[in-house]
Amino acid sequence: MIQTEKFYRFLDNSTSPFFVIKNSSEILDKAGFKCLSFEEDWSLQKGGSYYIKLYDTALFAFRVGKSVSDDIILRMAAAHTDFPSFRVKPNPEMREKGYIRLNTESYGGMVLSSWFDRPLSISGKVSLRSEQLFLPKEVLIDIKKPLMVIPNLAIHLNREVNNGVEINKQKDVLPILGMADDEDIHNYFKNYLAQHLNVSAEDILDYDLFIYNLDKAYPAGVSDEFICAPRLDDLSSVYALIQGIINQVDDKDIHMICLFDNEEIGNRTKQGSASLFTTMLLEKIFQTLGKGRMELYEVLHRSFILSVDVAQAYHPNYPAKFDPTNTAELNKGVAIKIDTAQRYAYDTGAIAILQQLCEEYKIPYQKFVNRSDATAGGTMGPVISTQLPARTVDIGVPLLAMHSAVETMGTKDLDSIIRLMEAFFSAER
Ligand SMILES: [Zn+2]
Repeated sequence: MIQTEKFYRFLDNSTSPFFVIKNSSEILDKAGFKCLSFEEDWSLQKGGSYYIKLYDTALFAFRVGKSVSDDIILRMAAAHTDFPSFRVKPNPEMREKGYIRLNTESYGGMVLSSWFDRPLSISGKVSLRSEQLFLPKEVLIDIKKPLMVIPNLAIHLNREVNNGVEINKQKDVLPILGMADDEDIHNYFKNYLAQHLNVSAEDILDYDLFIYNLDKAYPAGVSDEFICAPRLDDLSSVYALIQGIINQVDDKDIHMICLFDNEEIGNRTKQGSASLFTTMLLEKIFQTLGKGRMELYEVLHRSFILSVDVAQAYHPNYPAKFDPTNTAELNKGVAIKIDTAQRYAYDTGAIAILQQLCEEYKIPYQKFVNRSDATAGGTMGPVISTQLPARTVDIGVPLLAMHSAVETMGTKDLDSIIRLMEAFFSAER
């Protein structure tokens, strides 16, 4: 129960990838992980715990075993810090009668209808003028109060609303921020930010700001068997990975968690899972430990990567959407995701390794396959395993209403994914 409460707070406070990384680093700091900077020389201790941030939206934490020897493997797990939401455009003010709306674009695949009539706020990073050309001042911001709303259209004005209505991203879902007279509209949003940050509006050069659902995480169901919350995809996995590496006990291998940004828009960014950075980081770790690049490649060949992202849970109202024999249900354990087109990474040996691990630690699991006439959504596994050709499996907790403003997972599955991550980083080979 204490674990669930902590998880709720993590979700509530992780309102943009920037804050996912901020909150993750604070947990790692408390657990004794040392923050490293890539451009410095390192001296890594055997038994040491470290982490490194990448552009404030990605993070890598690793532990070097106390007795690392020549036959080590890398045990790596990845999750993603981003989630579908609206992003505020530059010059966002739009006036309609006395209303001020914000011009936004959608980030990732959103269930747009779920964003109507919610308490919405803003979270992200603002870049400020500085004395140094190549070093702007960057500050994080989370407004934390209901700042906007996207009101539905009344049913009386839209009689077809329950028969499937098209929602246009440019005109139907612009949030209302306030009321103002014509003369006040110039720099209305920038002025608000400046006031909130206690800086001059002229010093605000740019921003990366997301609109988030302020609804808090809550337990639901007769026996609290469900967790409903915004951002469960993929912060449930991020949280589990952090618990896993903090509580790991193996002292022979190198353990790493990778919290990547930009999975929802295809991974191909400097801080996404397609980035060269993961390889560069591993090379630097190996070099610092007195091992060469070829040794890294040899170790990689026998290593194991878990790509942890949520899976489509069986939805009782839509049985026809699911495979006849391989569905994932809430509270029945971690889903092993299988797709013959390799939109999920796996091979049979890798799945066997995972099953043995689950069975040894009594962690429930289920195999998930899409219908043969449906296409799997993309995730990180195939991208990571082409950059780092180690055995990789895509897994995750089953989730209802994926990419909705509020998603639903099983309470027992939180325990299962945390225990699986702890087991992965602790099991004897
Ligand atoms: Zn995801």
